[in-house]
Amino acid sequence: MKKLKVALIAHDGKKADMLALAAEYKAFLSGCTLCATGTTGSRLEQSVGLTIEKLLSGPLGGDLQIGARIAEHNMDLVIFLRDPMTSQPHEPDINALVRACDVHNIPCATNTASAKLMLDSFKLDSLAAQTPS
Ligand code: PGA
Repeated sequence: MKKLKVALIAHDGKKADMLALAAEYKAFLSGCTLCATGTTGSRLEQSVGLTIEKLLSGPLGGDLQIGARIAEHNMDLVIFLRDPMTSQPHEPDINALVRACDVHNIPCATNTASAKLMLDSFKLDSLAAQTPS
């Protein structure tokens, strides 16, 4: 079965939440093809032990690299944990990424509640695909 391609990005104020989310879904995420912006990816590898393709750090354009994959239909799910309470020097990036997801109809979660719903849904899909009919 085709592996699900998932992109993970978290603003600094939400990196701890991303680590907790990834730890909770580690078994499922281990079976996915993962990529992340640089710092988010390093933290996930070190703390959770996931294997992740680390792109450039967000401020250096890692989110644009993810955007390119979305535009090329090379991404199945984007989890971008946004910190709405802290002003981000590269704030527009989330808008560009969410817009790219909307243009190409790719599911995009910007908080852990929606991320869990989407991950649960993909998990059910993959379990159903593995169950002999
Ligand atoms: P980072 O990028 O994972 O490299 O910190 C995320 C962001 O743009 O905040």
